[in-house]
This record gives sequence, structure tokens and C-alpha cells, in this order.
Amino acid sequence: MTEKAKVFTVGLRATKPQDSQVAKIEKLARAIGIDKFAWDKKLVAVKTHFGERGNAAFPRPVLIRPVVDLIKNGGGKPFLAETTTLYTGSRSNAVEHTETAIRHGFGIEVTGAPIFMCDGLTGRDGHMVKIDGTHYQEVSVASGIQEADALVVVSHFKGHELTSFGGAIKNLGMGCCSRSAKLAMHTTIRPTVLASKCVKCGICFDWCSAGAISQPKPDGPVVINPNLCRGCGECLISCRNSAIRINWSDDAQGVTERMVEHAYGVAKTKPGSAFYISFLMNIVPLCDCVNFSGAPVVPDIGFAASTDPVALDACCLDMVNQQIGLVGSALKEAHEPGKSKFCDLHPDLKTELQLEYAEKIGLGTRKYERINLEQ
Ligand code: SF4
Ligand code: SF4
Repeated sequence: MTEKAKVFTVGLRATKPQDSQVAKIEKLARAIGIDKFAWDKKLVAVKTHFGERGNAAFPRPVLIRPVVDLIKNGGGKPFLAETTTLYTGSRSNAVEHTETAIRHGFGIEVTGAPIFMCDGLTGRDGHMVKIDGTHYQEVSVASGIQEADALVVVSHFKGHELTSFGGAIKNLGMGCCSRSAKLAMHTTIRPTVLASKCVKCGICFDWCSAGAISQPKPDGPVVINPNLCRGCGECLISCRNSAIRINWSDDAQGVTERMVEHAYGVAKTKPGSAFYISFLMNIVPLCDCVNFSGAPVVPDIGFAASTDPVALDACCLDMVNQQIGLVGSALKEAHEPGKSKFCDLHPDLKTELQLEYAEKIGLGTRKYERINLEQ
């Protein structure tokens, strides 16, 4: 019989300084062993989410600080780890992503740690990790994540438009991999060139190591040969006219399973040296990658932590479902405690799928023992 994983939780009630949110996060971090870990001189990736510009639901930077301080007190060298996005936005290269992070308050003066984009300037830096999965035999983990000695994943638990909800597993899988991995997760269909935007400059030809992009006729359109394309995503970055289109997959189950396999690959690089903390605040319907944030669907709950990302997400999901849904939010019918909030928000998606698949491939267990540190 699989042993239950421990998930520690704290709520938000406060009547004295020791109840501050900073103190509560420190308490949680200690509960999962962050204070006792042998950090000495280790480079520690603290992976969070800086939020797309326009979004305001991402974790508060000041609440990352207690985690950073504990690692530093133990002699570790923490840095705030992020990777570039696949789509054009305010985080599609290291320069704009760092600017967005600073704008959102994640500068070193607040968090205590420098920002480092783990997949390089434009998302190309990945390290292949063998996983023997169903979709992949190997996955491209962002180099800075792979090279770090330890990983602390600080996630915002909320809804998600492709995977129903996003928490620790999503932050690991989608958040810690290179651009080519993100493309592979999102679609199995190769990119295409939008003739209406393409100025036929030919810049992308030089970036495509597969020789898949060409202009067959002198005045004709630029095209991508899907049989030659390896799905590396280089052309997406090289085109300054946003003329290369990602053919987003409508296969939500495939996207979820591919994301979970990437999460497995990332976790595989940190045996015994990965910790997970999730914020159950601002629980909005969509990911922090969108450039707005809707009304929260349940009241703020608090924080949770574990060394098992699957148990942590399973516990967070249950905690959200136990809440009373907020009137005026995007919830349609599942306001009653016990009803599945994310099934209501995203009825076409299978909410439990990422947990089931993550357990199946050995990323962790859905069986958890919840330990409320405030009792
Ligand atoms: S870089 Fe963009 S605009 Fe230039 S040829 Fe390629 S697709 Fe067209
Ligand atoms: S995704 Fe990579 S291999 Fe495919 S066309 Fe673009 S640059 Fe070439």
C-alpha cells in the first residue's frame, strides 16, 4: 500500500505578529525541512511565477522572502528562477521577462534573491533528461534548473484554461522547461507561416537547423515543411513580425499528459532536493500567464507545502472544493462546499487528469495526510 505523503497547511487568521503571512510561510517551510537541509554553498532555484503584464493574481513577492532567507541562513545561494513563454507577450525573452518581474515587485530588494532566466536569453537553453514516458523518451529541462543543486517551487494555485487547474505540477512541467519543450507540450502540430504578416525577410531560414523553412517560388509565400520540422521553436523567436503561428492543440488530455511527463523529467533532476509551497490566495479561473485576472472563485484559504508535488496539488484541490463559491465570480453552479469548482469553470476539461497521470508515472502520490499547523 502506498504511504500517504504529508501536506502541511496554514490558514490566514491572524491576531498577533507571529500570525503574519511571512511567519506562516516560514513555519510551513520549516515543516517540510527547508531549515534543516544542507544548503551550504548550493545554488538553489526558487521557481515562482512573475505573472504576465496586466495580471495581478500572481504570488506576492514579499512572501517569497521568508523562503529565500531560510535558504540563505543555511548557507545556500538562492535565485528566482523563470523561463520564457512560448507566445508573444511581456515574458517571451529574458529581457522583457526580467522587466516584467521587476515591474511586478520581484526585484532583489524585496525578495532577497537575484532573478535568473534559466532557459537563456530567448528560451533556447535546455538540457535533455531521459524519462522513458509514453509521450517522450527525453524532455528538455531549462539548463539553469537542471544545473541548480536544489529546487524550491513556490506556486500559485488557481484555475487553468488547458489543464483545469495549475499548481505545483504545472509550475514544474510548463514552468521549468525550455521553449522547445513548451512547444512540444502545447502541440504536436508543427508551426506555420502567416502570409498576411510575413515580409519575406528570410531571417527565420538561418535559424532553422532542420532546413524546414523555405520560399519555394521567388515571389511566393514562405512555408514550413512539417515533415522536416523538428518542433524546436527557434523560428518563433527569430521572427520579429510574429508571422510564425503556433497551432495550439485542442487535445487538452494530450497537453496535460505531456506537461506531466515534463514535470516528471524536472523532478528527476532533483532527487531529495526539491520542496513545494503553494499559495491558495486569489484563486482565479485562469492562469497567471493571461494578461488580466478575473474575480477569485472562492475566499482566500492560506498556504500549503509538501515534498510531494502530486500530494500537494491533490490537497490544494480538495481545499478549494471544500470552500463556498463566491457570488459574482465566474462560477456557474458549484458554489456549495464539496462541489468541484474547476469542473464548473472548465467543463470540457478533466480536472483530476493531471493528478491521475502524475501518480501513474511515479511523480508522486495522490494519497496525503493533511497536517494543519495551526491546530
Ligand atoms: S522571419 Fe518572419 S517575416 Fe521573415 S521570412 Fe520568416 S516568417 Fe517571414
Ligand atoms: S520549429 Fe524549429 S525545426 Fe520547425 S520550422 Fe521552426 S525553426 Fe525549423
